Amino acid sequence: MSHQAKNWWESSSRDELHHRQGELLRHFLKNRVVPFAAYYRKLFADHDLSADDIQSTDDLTKLPFTSKRHFENPKDFVIIPDEDVLKHQWSTIKRAITRGPTRAKIELEEELRPILLTSTTGRSSAPVPFLYTKHDLHQLEVGGRRMMELCQSDPAWRHINAFPFAPHLAFWQAHYASLGYNAFMVASGGGKTMGTEGNIRLIDKIDPDAIIAMPTFLYHLLQEGAAAGSRWKNLKRLVLGGEKVPAGMRRKLRDLCTEMGAPQVAIMSTYGFTEAKVAWTECMAPAGAEPSGFHTYPDMGFVEIIDPESGERVPDHHPGEIVITHLDSRGTIVLRYRTGDLIDGGLSHEPCPYCGRRCPRLIGKISRVSDIQRLNIGKLKGTLVDFNRLENLLDDTDNLGAWQMEIRKRNDDPLESDILIVHAVAMTDDQEQLRDAVNERFRSVTEFSPNEIVFHSWDKMRKMQGVGKELKEKKVVDHRPKET
Ligand SMILES: [Zn+2]
Repeated sequence: MSHQAKNWWESSSRDELHHRQGELLRHFLKNRVVPFAAYYRKLFADHDLSADDIQSTDDLTKLPFTSKRHFENPKDFVIIPDEDVLKHQWSTIKRAITRGPTRAKIELEEELRPILLTSTTGRSSAPVPFLYTKHDLHQLEVGGRRMMELCQSDPAWRHINAFPFAPHLAFWQAHYASLGYNAFMVASGGGKTMGTEGNIRLIDKIDPDAIIAMPTFLYHLLQEGAAAGSRWKNLKRLVLGGEKVPAGMRRKLRDLCTEMGAPQVAIMSTYGFTEAKVAWTECMAPAGAEPSGFHTYPDMGFVEIIDPESGERVPDHHPGEIVITHLDSRGTIVLRYRTGDLIDGGLSHEPCPYCGRRCPRLIGKISRVSDIQRLNIGKLKGTLVDFNRLENLLDDTDNLGAWQMEIRKRNDDPLESDILIVHAVAMTDDQEQLRDAVNERFRSVTEFSPNEIVFHSWDKMRKMQGVGKELKEKKVVDHRPKET
């Protein structure tokens, strides 16, 4: 093992983890959540539960799940202390005695006053705000430092943060990673702020060791940079976030880096979502080896994997939906939050084969529960279509630059059958061959092939996807008229 494990989040046995997480959870529920977060205070009361009824992470199953649809009043998920209750808590009294009343007051304000907001992107529902206090920003910094360590960055390296300037976890996580690691980082703001050319010029000048960005935007940057004659020979890491990264995309990014004089680049994918208030990364895998999964932080959150149908927990290494419970957050908090994300290799408590860390790892591919849609394609009424699988398939197709899948109704008639159009950029002159390849690949995994494959220029595709402008690139669009 190359890594000298020191902290409990990365070195604890499963039993020790269970014990420590239970301790954090008890303190969190008793002193912060049940007294001060309105939604959970009511939820506990409605289920005739007190904080004491949950002694360990096992007992969490007594609580119903929380999901996005419960966020009608986001404020109800914020820890808003009642001064009088807070004043009489034993932990407050103890703090006042040991730290002095003035210092204790400042510390409590820093722990509890929200000072930053990130938001969900709201592609399908209203955006949900998540508040951070200084306590949370410290965690974002600690989590960020761990990401840098897991990716084997170096504080002396130069980093580019190419996430869009936005109240979005990805941007702030990258920013706080540089603070936590005490490393140089330039934020370009992504495509919207400086444009593709501006980003390329900035990267030319900075000559970074690492770029942190959304995969499609980064792919576009490398493509344009390579075409413009840029050579980014100093590049050692590409860290991808904001959307999932299929194997085919990694291969394409690696090929472009080689073309630009940086064959040594290691590519890591990260996984984060607004409600987790932190992002997780893969560690550095040996060249050519499969990544060993997202390394989670068990001192900040408890991750459980459930059967999305029954809601029951599944054993390690079994696929299921990712559910998160905060253990030590302030501002906006969640317990047993259903992400709607499916992980196909489940959770592992085995030591990581590459870095030896023992933190729980999320293994395999992540897809959205909502990626699976029922379409009426021609005579195939009610066909279940796994868009995640189709996305992987397109990403893995050679000579296919960028793409978008569009669902429409035939003749825009709400009563007609659904049609699927693949829009794509061809990286070859032989468009007919590419069209055949896409059709064939579709038929190998589904019962149908696209109704139409339309080729576009890069510029047009960027506009269609909203590259650099949208927080999530639009890879699947639904243009079916609503039935009236
Ligand atoms: Zn590892």
